[in-house]
Amino acid sequence: MPTLLLTDKDVRTLLPMPECIEIMDAALRSVSAGESTLPLRTVIRLNGTPNAFGSMPAIYGSGPEASIGAKIITVFPGNDATPFDSHIGVVLLFDVAQGTLLAIADASSITAIRTSAVSGLATRILSNPDSRELAVLGAGVLARPHIDAVRAVRPIERVRVWSRSRVRAEELRTRLVATEDYSDKLEIVVCDSARDAVRNADVVCTITSARTPILEGGWLSPGTHVNAVGASLSTARELDTYAVQRALLFVDRRESTLAEAGDFLIPRAEGAITDTHIRGELGELSLRTILGRTSRSDITLFKSLGLAVEDVAALRHVYERARETGAGKSVELGGMRD
Ligand code: NDP
Repeated sequence: MPTLLLTDKDVRTLLPMPECIEIMDAALRSVSAGESTLPLRTVIRLNGTPNAFGSMPAIYGSGPEASIGAKIITVFPGNDATPFDSHIGVVLLFDVAQGTLLAIADASSITAIRTSAVSGLATRILSNPDSRELAVLGAGVLARPHIDAVRAVRPIERVRVWSRSRVRAEELRTRLVATEDYSDKLEIVVCDSARDAVRNADVVCTITSARTPILEGGWLSPGTHVNAVGASLSTARELDTYAVQRALLFVDRRESTLAEAGDFLIPRAEGAITDTHIRGELGELSLRTILGRTSRSDITLFKSLGLAVEDVAALRHVYERARETGAGKSVELGGMRD
């Protein structure tokens, strides 16, 4: 029984951002339509450290077209000062006919691309169509693919980057301007403060490991769309209470938000908002069962936590493309009777 091993290079080749945005659209519609099955993720904390080991299983779709899969990862936030990614692991894909293990793929690359693609999807659905100014808070692994994702859906002309350590933001800028696709098409400005980066931005992405607010609601201009991506624990948040309170809030999944999203749960615990502040899910917006932005001046907020179904959908696409192109390495792990 062959299993396909797919490296980060395979994933990056076979999962271009515009395709991944459409794959995430389909995956999130299936979540909101109740066609996929996913429990809340299981996270084991490593005592006395910010590090964790997580398991995220899902069945994407239903019936003979469904895919079974899971992401198994370590999350070591301190790795951002080392050569290692802060998210390391594998995504597994099984078929529903016999339960065979079809593919094992690098999780770092799938996570970075699918997370950014979901932000791109949220930006396409919620931001004003003429959005030209993007602010990126955080200059780690997710920064470059987030810029790619937002550029894929909006006519971005300028990106303002802020990171806790300015040198990290400068390094990102240097890497980007060395890329043909960026050099003469985009102005990239490194800012000294998050406030400077956010001023008059049309789209803001928060992609840091901060546990306390790095974005204040008072800095946001009317009409801004925010993708809040970095915080995925009930006790951590990147946005202050006012930023959440003054925005129309949309989420990847209600159940996950109510269990895992400090950006929502902390303002709720303060009494600033209630559960009804969640307007709905991205999949519901895509299915047009709820309304999104109602005027140019609305501030919209997408709270991303990341769902297992996104990883499974992404790997299913990579696996199908690998079968067509001959990419990946086939191994016999077992799983057959003698
Ligand atoms: P990296 O480790 O590559 O980068 C982390 C970034 O956060 C760096 O810019 C770092 O700044 C900054 N940072 C760390 N601590 C703080 C702080 N206290 N205040 C301000 N900035 C800080 O991480 P990734 O890019 O891979 O991921 C970013 C975040 O997104 C993580 O929290 C991760 O868990 C989350 N994530 C969310 C997903 C989702 O689906 N919603 C999926 C994947 C990741 P500096 O340059 O100074 O080190």
